[in-house]
Amino acid sequence: MTIEAEALADIGPARRRALFERDAGVDAVRDDVREIVSRVREEGDAALREFASEFDGVEVGNIDVTDQAERAYESIDDDVRAAIETAIENVREFHERQLPEDWTETVDGRELGRRFRPVERVGAYAPGGAATYPSSVVMTVVPAKVAGVEQVAVATPPAEEMHPVTLAACHAAGADRVYAAGGAQAIAALAYGTETVDRTQLIVGPGNKWVTAGKAEVRGDVEIDFLAGPSEVCVLADDTCEPEYVAADLLAQAEHDPEASVVAVTDDADVAAAVSEAVEAGLDGRERADVIEAALDSEASGVFYARSMSEAVLFAEEYAAEHLSIQADDDEAILDRIDDAGSVFLGPYTPVAAGDYATGTNHVLPTNAGARVKGGLSVDTFLRASTVQRLDRDALADLRETVTTLADAEGLEGHANSVDARFADEE
Ligand code: NAD
Repeated sequence: MTIEAEALADIGPARRRALFERDAGVDAVRDDVREIVSRVREEGDAALREFASEFDGVEVGNIDVTDQAERAYESIDDDVRAAIETAIENVREFHERQLPEDWTETVDGRELGRRFRPVERVGAYAPGGAATYPSSVVMTVVPAKVAGVEQVAVATPPAEEMHPVTLAACHAAGADRVYAAGGAQAIAALAYGTETVDRTQLIVGPGNKWVTAGKAEVRGDVEIDFLAGPSEVCVLADDTCEPEYVAADLLAQAEHDPEASVVAVTDDADVAAAVSEAVEAGLDGRERADVIEAALDSEASGVFYARSMSEAVLFAEEYAAEHLSIQADDDEAILDRIDDAGSVFLGPYTPVAAGDYATGTNHVLPTNAGARVKGGLSVDTFLRASTVQRLDRDALADLRETVTTLADAEGLEGHANSVDARFADEE
């Protein structure tokens, strides 16, 4: 296949919509997913088993596979166990730095504070369809545990033999329950509960279009992190970049899913042509060439050249990618001009894959331009903050007129009275 470099100036409105309003196929499966969710709600485990047979081709025995996790941890190769432990350590360290402290401060006689408490029961989805994702177990369970969540249940698609590295990661990261359930049916089970699956209060984690549509469907009945669907990368490059590195990063994201979106944008037409060539050359002999080709073919993917770096930066900003890689001279000055990106990778030696597994940052990130309003998974996702206040008599006296005036303006006499009552002995 060929992936032609295109001039940004020639892109028409339909293509712009495909790029900037991309939805990775999620909308198209919403109706099917609504049906799946309601079947699980009504029929519980029986529906989970039926969908496992239909979509995963597996006759599920035990849905709860928690007891297999420790054995899997012992059974996997030493080097894989060590890699999981290193990833966990780095992710834990980065997320421990995010833990907020409760605070109290007195401001004009008013004692004010915030206290942070973890959600009690969390469901984490670890994908496992086209590929397996023990890394997503690490990225969801470790921050939840750092936040202090008591019960973390992982759901991951069933298989004749559950993937041992995913199970091992569940044990190593400290998951309390592991369920063999995938797709939108797993999300429904975590949201509403079944005979086997305990209902959770917050569902986090990435997945394909069915998982993502499932999260959109249950949102409201249960809290979710955000929509973390098929992967995306935008590489912003100038003539100092290595086109082979840029191409390698595009190919890496494209191999996640046929619905993945990958773009490179540069201010140099020769660089764009070299990246296109390197992508084509890199496709040769890849195991997942069909998935990669489908992703590259998408109208939401492409290799583009702009008339200036400013135009390229504006494109990247509007694209609001899940992953933004900047492979250009003076990357920090470019970063200063970007607000909308899930996770940023600076320089030639920071491939997105390093963050996918082991830099310590979280790889669960908003897709479909969700980065315009949301950041990725963090310790905050698992915490709720209550506010606390205490006034002494003088502080209330200072506020009295403000409160009673606003209460009167709202026509809420009882509110004003509740303040005045504290001073009744003076009048
Ligand atoms: P998955 O676990 O997300 O999906 C597999 C499940 O999809 C199966 O268990 C099955 O139940 C369901 N399914 C398959 N075909 C179906 C159909 N026709 N109808 C209904 N349900 C069906 O695993 P995956 O497919 O490998 O996808 C993983 C996804 O996670 C990729 O898109 C990847 O890009 C994404 N990802 C995103 C992030 C992020 O933070 N945004 C991070 C990591 C991975």
